[in-house]
Amino acid sequence: MSKSLDFLTEALRRLPGVGPKSAQRMAFHLLQHDREGAAMLSRALYQAVDAVHHCAMCNTFAETEVCDTCLDEARDKALLCVVETPADQLMIEQTLTYKGLYFVLMGRLSPLDGIGPKDIHLDKLINRAADGVVGEVVLATNFTNEGEATAHYISEMLKARGLKVSRLARGVPVGGELEYVDAGTIARAMLDRRAT
Ligand SMILES: [Zn+2]
Repeated sequence: MSKSLDFLTEALRRLPGVGPKSAQRMAFHLLQHDREGAAMLSRALYQAVDAVHHCAMCNTFAETEVCDTCLDEARDKALLCVVETPADQLMIEQTLTYKGLYFVLMGRLSPLDGIGPKDIHLDKLINRAADGVVGEVVLATNFTNEGEATAHYISEMLKARGLKVSRLARGVPVGGELEYVDAGTIARAMLDRRAT
């Protein structure tokens, strides 16, 4: 049909959950009905890829070397909360009970999907947690099988280095993803966190 159209369809297929049919529908839609939107999408992608990096301290998305949260002087630097995603961090922030800092894994261990320790930046986490200021690492990965396995792995790894590690309490339901749990429950789980 058109080389450029094929290229666009291929590119759209890189989005999670998008197969050949829906990629083609999206491409047709953009070119037929929303050229302005298509141009905006292309600019936004270009700009984000260029500007967005990972915070040198907590690994979350940031446009500066160190993100605003990590630079916030009002935070308790002795507490480091490990979460899977920026969305999970946001959930914990919304509970207003946690005043420490974060480390964002940007994923979870998932051997079946080929996601190992390197893919979730555990080297960076070790360096961060062992800075001599962090006194307790709070594991707030999800209560799914993979989240639990990730918490266990990190716990063993950090305890082997003499660090104090705790886990969110079981207020969060089994299989629960923080993103979908209400703030009150997460707040309770944070207050009731237990040593691992
Ligand atoms: Zn940061």
